[in-house]
Amino acid sequence: MSGNVLVLNSGSSSLKYAVMDPISGETVGRGIVERIGEAEVRDHGEALQVASERLDHVVGSLVAVGHRVVHGGPDIYQPTLIDDDLIARLEKLSPLAPLHNPPALLGIEVARRTLPDLPHIAVFDTAFFHNLPAAAATYAIDRDVAEQWHVRRYGFHGTSHQYVSEQAALFLGKPLEELRQVVLHLGNGASASAIVGGRPVDTSMGLTPLEGLVMGTRSGDIDPGVLVYLWRTAGMSVEDIEDMLNHSAGVRGLGGENDFRLLHKRIDAGDEDARLAYDVYIHRLRKYIGAYLALLGGADVITFTAGVGENDAAVRRDALRGLQRLGIELDEERNASPERTARRISTDESPTAVLVVPTNEELAIARACADLVKG
Ligand code: AMP
Repeated sequence: MSGNVLVLNSGSSSLKYAVMDPISGETVGRGIVERIGEAEVRDHGEALQVASERLDHVVGSLVAVGHRVVHGGPDIYQPTLIDDDLIARLEKLSPLAPLHNPPALLGIEVARRTLPDLPHIAVFDTAFFHNLPAAAATYAIDRDVAEQWHVRRYGFHGTSHQYVSEQAALFLGKPLEELRQVVLHLGNGASASAIVGGRPVDTSMGLTPLEGLVMGTRSGDIDPGVLVYLWRTAGMSVEDIEDMLNHSAGVRGLGGENDFRLLHKRIDAGDEDARLAYDVYIHRLRKYIGAYLALLGGADVITFTAGVGENDAAVRRDALRGLQRLGIELDEERNASPERTARRISTDESPTAVLVVPTNEELAIARACADLVKG
């Protein structure tokens, strides 16, 4: 197949788009339409209109449209051609991902209307983790309740974890099958995974993308008793609690900023809340790294990716500080380099290689679409 794939990632108030050549990996166009719902861009239809105008010159080269969908529930996980039946099934799953699936479905609906002659394909964030070992995927709760309500750990950012782990193997020049890897996807959302031979054995996100690491605005792990307490005793509604955990928690909830560049500025200016936010973030990150090293019996490679992971040398240094006894030795100079390509930041002698690998979820989605269209 030759031609480009339009990749759409629809959030509640933004639409990210990229036009990718799945074969060469070239990005033909890319952008974001923000503040959907406000005066200039009233809805997802108008947002796609704005994107289409910007992409006018490449629309003729498109052979498919790929849609990032966060949650496909227990049964839908492979890249799937979108038809009315799939949409009906995804609508039923919206309660599993109330913040993510409804905007994705809106994006799909308007894109199918705008580009009716192209195949539209859903690519799921959960796909890579579909076969997590039962010991990692199972919550220790009543089995009947879990089964009836599909409560298990699904994992998210799967497209990124898979892409980055493959790139890490390519970079090291080693077969994926031979590597024990830890991948740290640290963006505004953040997740960690432990991967053996290309297959994930654990990941930090669960039923929803709230579990695990401290994130830009999400809490990550929290004692479930806190939620019950806030509901019963503090008089917070379920919606209040959900909103807090997703939007006013994490690094922003503690330190007032979710952008790490601004968080560092506040720390440098002596802001103690920002300092605590950073310390809590690093503490959790180190706990996950330690847990995954134990699960794997040591790692061949630890890879940082996404906005914070690719750019924030201080986070990388503090996450791995003092782990020489575990075979992890960062090279300060390499770590501080602002290079933007895949690179090693450990010393050449470090038994565990530490890498920075830029993620490219759009390319991975475009390739999944191209494979499906090709049949
Ligand atoms: P992502 O979700 O992968 O797009 O990552 C977005 C986040 O990356 C932002 O909220 C920032 O916290 C972080 N980020 C982006 N650029 C930098 C940078 N140069 N230094 C530190 N953090 C950055």
